[in-house]
Amino acid sequence: MHYLSFVKAEDNYRHKGLRKKLVEKLRVLDICNEEILSAIGNVPRHFFLDSSFEQFAYTNKAFPIASGQTISQPQTVAQQTELLQCKSGDKVLEIGTGSGYQCAVLCELGMKVYSIERQKDLHDLSGPLLKKMGYAPTLYYGDGYKGKEVFAPYDGIIVTCGAPFVPKALLSQLAIGGRLVIPVGEGETQRMLTIDRVGESEFNKKDHGVAAFVPMLEEKARD
Ligand code: SAH
Repeated sequence: MHYLSFVKAEDNYRHKGLRKKLVEKLRVLDICNEEILSAIGNVPRHFFLDSSFEQFAYTNKAFPIASGQTISQPQTVAQQTELLQCKSGDKVLEIGTGSGYQCAVLCELGMKVYSIERQKDLHDLSGPLLKKMGYAPTLYYGDGYKGKEVFAPYDGIIVTCGAPFVPKALLSQLAIGGRLVIPVGEGETQRMLTIDRVGESEFNKKDHGVAAFVPMLEEKARD
């Protein structure tokens, strides 16, 4: 039994109540973008966890999913989405589809989302789930280090795994005026960076503090 057990799952008043509380908690934690808060309030996070772990869906915690990966902490999803500074209609590339939760939040905000995942089992699970929920992102099984050139340029690129360095391909696929949000670092923690493309070969980097993501897997180690 896995995410797809959600087919039988429902989004009832209890879930909605827990979600409201989570949104209030995020507000206290300084998430102030009302559109993002309302998107988080609208996306049933429990659909992205195995139903036996449903009680953890509305705590502000990351949680293990398949293949040793995690569904990002709601606060992190909110922060990265705020940092992305994209709006409805913008074209966004996500690296690390994982459970599909962050992707759902971006879709809920009206963005046109492309997302890449390099673990086949996660890729295979997130597609049908997001579709059943009524979202229509374009999902790829592949290597996030390469980005997705054919649909570039992107207004925003969001990396949801800890990158050892900033992949060149992602910079080159940003629109001028676009922004890359990427946790960078080789150890257990990274620095959350935003990199704005302000000209053909001009970029502005900003550090937004410490982050802790699962590592971005090596290009060649695809299985
Ligand atoms: N956005 C996800 C977070 C999942 S954790 C969510 O909301 O659930 C990070 C994900 O990045 C994992 O699923 C991992 O398999 C994926 N990942 C790691 N290295 C990658 C790479 N090189 N290319 C694409 N995806 C990668």
